[in-house]
Amino acid sequence: MHDVVIIGGGLYGSSTAYHLLRRDPGLDVCIVEPDPGFEHAASARSNGGVRILFSQAESIRMSQYGHAFYAAFPDAMAIDGEPAALDLFRRGYLIIATRPEQVEDMSANLELQRSLGCRVEAHDAESLSAAFPSLRTDDVRMAVHSPDDMWIDPYGATVGLLRKARAMGAALRRARVVGVDIDGGIARSVRLDDGTTLAGEWLVNATGAWAPELCRLVGFDVPVVPLPMMAYYFETRAEIDAFGVTIDQDAVGFRPEGAGYITLIQRLDIAGRFQWEADHDLFEERSWPRLAHRVPAFESLKVMSSYCCHYAMNRFDGNLLLGAWPGEPENFLIATGASGHGLQHAPAAGRALSELILDRAFCTLDLSRFGCARVVEDRPDPERGFTA
Ligand SMILES: Cc1cc2nc3c(=O)[nH]c(=O)nc-3n(C[C@H](O)[C@H](O)[C@H](O)COP(=O)(O)OP(=O)(O)OC[C@H]3O[C@@H](n4cnc5c(N)ncnc54)[C@H](O)[C@@H]3O)c2cc1C
Repeated sequence: MHDVVIIGGGLYGSSTAYHLLRRDPGLDVCIVEPDPGFEHAASARSNGGVRILFSQAESIRMSQYGHAFYAAFPDAMAIDGEPAALDLFRRGYLIIATRPEQVEDMSANLELQRSLGCRVEAHDAESLSAAFPSLRTDDVRMAVHSPDDMWIDPYGATVGLLRKARAMGAALRRARVVGVDIDGGIARSVRLDDGTTLAGEWLVNATGAWAPELCRLVGFDVPVVPLPMMAYYFETRAEIDAFGVTIDQDAVGFRPEGAGYITLIQRLDIAGRFQWEADHDLFEERSWPRLAHRVPAFESLKVMSSYCCHYAMNRFDGNLLLGAWPGEPENFLIATGASGHGLQHAPAAGRALSELILDRAFCTLDLSRFGCARVVEDRPDPERGFTA
């Protein structure tokens, strides 16, 4: 019998294992992961962005922990004195508003962000154009720039965290969970696709976009679906500003990647199914005109590669679902639905899950706002303003 069986070894699963073992190195933790090279996990294929530009204080605080966690990553995840490699680019986030209602949200969020100690600069069209001359700004009403925000290498973070959790004593079982045994209202064990069973005092469903399948095996439905996200890497010969993560709230986002840039298309029209290839025509029809509108130098660009992976999209309110589901086994915890902001919140969410297991309560940061009761009680609690 393991103390904790963690299903899924992406950032949420590994972060939970890491925080559990940091608190209690004697715990018996087992991670079940069929794909430890992370060919399909969102964690390894994400955009890697970490920002404090949220509207909910809990999300800002989670990102602040994410900032500290990833900045300390090389030393904190060192094994036998060998630092973990993690590329980190602290080049800021820029979010652009072109509509009055966006300005209203942005202004309210700015006040909260500053009250929580975040460095955020507000721009009008004129000051934005001076700061980023490559941008078209004649339709811009307001923009915010958070210079301390960053992106990281998501693959390095995912692999480094799992490796560290294993070095701290977590067992890794290369298998897929295909069943969950419940008895007397308690989750007892998971059944694996190799025919074996693993028993645990606690079971954690950290399977991201696959989490709904496992919840269904236990007997409840979460309002989470895989949302195909098509990612395109492109290059341009034009000289443009040193952008960080840049988001035009109406149209398109991009960030530098290697010698070029990366941009995403959300496929809401096919939400609910897994799709592993990007559609090239869609880039030309949808992204390119919008990119060239915001940065005229992008008139000339070349797509070099593309792929498709998935948000665990919470259709209810776009936010994380954390903890036990009301009326279901209290020792079956879930963490899913963080849509496009889960990488930056995985450190805080893993710490929170470790507290639910070791202390039966949130201790360092109260994340009850993201509890599953809000779904059952029909109290959606979405972010205000820009969401991902
Ligand atoms: C294109 C894209 C861009 C993104 N950009 C950002 C960003 O800039 N900033 C940000 O904060 N977040 C971003 N995100 C979101 C973030 O990547 C995710 O929220 C986060 O990585 C989810 O981590 P996870 O561990 O829950 O899921 P995953 O990383 O998907 O891991 C789940 C794991 O569970 C395993 N699994 C599945 N089924 C089973 C089973 N039955 N048994 C055992 N294991 C199983 C899978 O193999 C997988 O490894 C982005 C996501 C995408 C797709």
